[in-house]
Amino acid sequence: MSKSARKYLIAGNWKMNLNSAEGAELAKDVVSLVGAQTDVAVCVCPTFTVLESVSKVVSGSNVQLGAQNMHFEASGAYTGEISAEMLRHLFANFVILGHSERREDFGETDAIVNKKTLAALAANLKPIVCIGETLEEREAGKVKEVIKTQLEGALVGVTAAAADALVIAYEPVWAIGTGKTATPEMAEEVHAEIRCLLAGLIGAEAAEKVRILYGGSMKPENADELLAQKNIDGGLIGGAALKASSFAALVESAQKLSK
Ligand code: PEP
Repeated sequence: MSKSARKYLIAGNWKMNLNSAEGAELAKDVVSLVGAQTDVAVCVCPTFTVLESVSKVVSGSNVQLGAQNMHFEASGAYTGEISAEMLRHLFANFVILGHSERREDFGETDAIVNKKTLAALAANLKPIVCIGETLEEREAGKVKEVIKTQLEGALVGVTAAAADALVIAYEPVWAIGTGKTATPEMAEEVHAEIRCLLAGLIGAEAAEKVRILYGGSMKPENADELLAQKNIDGGLIGGAALKASSFAALVESAQKLSK
């Protein structure tokens, strides 16, 4: 399978920004700029309280909805948590799992990310599973080791049948929100490694179907080169997703490369 068989995905991680009215406004602008094109899959991931208003705005367009987290249980005594089914009820299609901010600030382990990944897949939500090394780990030459541990830990029990739904986001922690981006070559090296690891886990044919996004200060100025890499199938975008014009410019970069 060639790269062109994988549709680019540009996903915006809005993090803990915007209230429901502000989120709806941003979503309206995103829909008006890129909601009609079908070359690139586009998804916005607002915070939980903003999902419903954004869901209404993106409905009927090519902009899909994602959440930034979920609990792995379906319901019960889990104060403050949200289940996959609750997200599906709001027409969410994607969920970001294991973001480095959740790993660092909320103690999410690979085992927790694994439970969430399995629960998301079971509920027909496409998991965007985030993995990536810290600066310290990179400087210690441990990138491959960290990626392998996180990927294998997150995907225990995941089979080839999940390949179309599964999305991996390689997000070097040192590049998130810092303005520092991995060079296209640095990113491609890790993406190729991830695809190779995926082949070992779910088979080579299924591994070719999995989209691997790059995340970490991706912006219109560096997107063309990153997205042109053989194993980079889109982006998970933080800062640049909070402005419709810069987010749309990233979608347009991917669109150019899809033709
Ligand atoms: C992110 O948080 O997933 C991210 C990639 O952020 P930024 O684009 O701001 O680096």
